[in-house]
Amino acid sequence: MMNRIQMRNPIAELDGDEMTRILWKQIKETVLEPYIKLNTEYFDLCLPERDRTDDEVTLEAAKAIKRLRVGVKCATITPNAARMTEYNLKRMYKSPNGTLRAYLDGTVFRAPITVPGLRTYIPGWVKPITVARHAYGDVYKAVEMRVPGAGRAELVFTGKDGSVTRETIFDFEGAGVIQGIHNRLDSIQTFARVCFEYALEVKQDLWFSTKDTISKTYDEAFRSAFQEMYDAEYKEKFESAGIKYFYTLIDDAVARAVKSAGGFVWAMKNYDGDVLSDMISSAFGSLALMTSVLVCPGGCWEYEAAHGTVTRHYYRYLKGEKTSTNPMATLFAWTGALAKRGELDGNEALVGFAKKLECASIETIASGVMTGDMALLYEGEANTVDSEAFLKAIAGRLEQ
Ligand code: NAP
Ligand code: MG
Repeated sequence: MMNRIQMRNPIAELDGDEMTRILWKQIKETVLEPYIKLNTEYFDLCLPERDRTDDEVTLEAAKAIKRLRVGVKCATITPNAARMTEYNLKRMYKSPNGTLRAYLDGTVFRAPITVPGLRTYIPGWVKPITVARHAYGDVYKAVEMRVPGAGRAELVFTGKDGSVTRETIFDFEGAGVIQGIHNRLDSIQTFARVCFEYALEVKQDLWFSTKDTISKTYDEAFRSAFQEMYDAEYKEKFESAGIKYFYTLIDDAVARAVKSAGGFVWAMKNYDGDVLSDMISSAFGSLALMTSVLVCPGGCWEYEAAHGTVTRHYYRYLKGEKTSTNPMATLFAWTGALAKRGELDGNEALVGFAKKLECASIETIASGVMTGDMALLYEGEANTVDSEAFLKAIAGRLEQ
C-alpha cells in the first residue's frame, strides 16, 4: 500500500446495479486499490438511489463526466413494468445511458477484446473491428403514418421566411404506410469528427459506409460531410499516421469486412450500427468481451461495459452461490478510464498500470483460467473458476 500510484485529477465513478455492482467492488478491491490510490467522484446510480433522488443523480453524474472529462460506468437497470414492482419505484425512469448520451452528445465506439485461444466465429477476423455508431436521428426519430386509402403523400418544408418546398412521395391508389425521417448537419459533422479523431488515436483505418447510390440526397449528405472534413482537416494527419480513410457502399463494406482480417474502425449510420454491432460482437464471441466508450465532441470520454447487469447470475448470488460472471468488460471500462486520465494528466505510471492490467487479464485467460462463458469459446482445456478466483488469478499474474 506504500508505493501506490497517485492520481492527480479525479474521474467520475458511476456505480450501478445487481451482479455488475458486485463485480465493481471485487474489481476495485482485488486489482485496483492495492496498486492505485483511486481518486474518484462517486455517483451511485443504483436504482434505489435514482428513485430516491428523482433521477437527479444521473444528471449530476453526466455533469461530472463533462467537467472531469473522464468517467467510468457500471451497468444499470433500465426500469420496466416488472422493475416498478420489484423496486417499488415512484416512476419509470429513463435509461441512464440514454440520459448520459443525450447530455454528453457522443458517439459510441464498441470493440471486442480478443484473446489468443478464444475462438471467434469468423476465423479470418484476427484483429478487432470497432463499430462507431451514430446515435442520433434517422428511423430512431421517425414520424410514421398509416395511409388509409387513395390519395397523395407529400414532403413539405416550410422555411422560417414562409417559403414552401414540396415533393410528391407517392400517389396512393390504396392503403399503405409512410415514414418521415431526418438528421441534422451539425450532428453528422460531430459524428464525422469523433470518428476521424478516434481512428487517429487508435491508429487504425477508418471505414465509412452508406447507401448514397440509392439515397442521393440523404445518405449523400453523410458521405460528403465525411469527405469534406477529411480533405480539409484530416488527410495529412492520416497520411502521417500511416492510416487510411475508406468510403464504400454499405453492401460492399459488409462483403469486404467478412473477408478482412479486422483491425479497423467502421463508422455507421444509426440503423446500420444498431444491427451490425450485434452481429460483429456475436461473431467475436461474447458481449462480456466487448469494450464500449462514449466519445463526446468537447473532449470527454465515458467508459462502460456493453452488457447489462447480469440479473440471472445476481439472483443466484443472492442465494449464496458463487457465480462465474465475466468481469472483463467492466475491468476494461476501468483500465480505459484510468489510461485516459493518465494520458490527459501526463501520468505515465497510471497509463502503464492500465496496460499491464489489461495484459495480465488477457494472459490469464490465454493460460486457461477463465469464467464459464469464456470456457465455451476456449480451444484448450479450460480451468473454469468463479469471478473472484478469476480476479485473484489476474492479480497474481500482475504481481509477476
Ligand atoms: P445482460 O445483463 O447483458 O445478460 C444477459 C445474459 O447474457 C446473462 O443472463 C448471461 O447469460 C449473459 N451475460 C451477460 N453479461 C455477462 C457476463 N459479464 N458474464 C457472463 N455472462 C454474461 O442482459 P439482460 O439480462 O437482458 O439485462 C439485465 C439488466 O441489465 C436489465 O435490467 C437491463 O435494463 C440492464 N441493461 C443495462 C445495460 C447498461 O447499463 N449498459 C445494457 C443492457 C442491459 P447466462 O445467464 O446464460 O449465463
Ligand atoms: Mg441493437
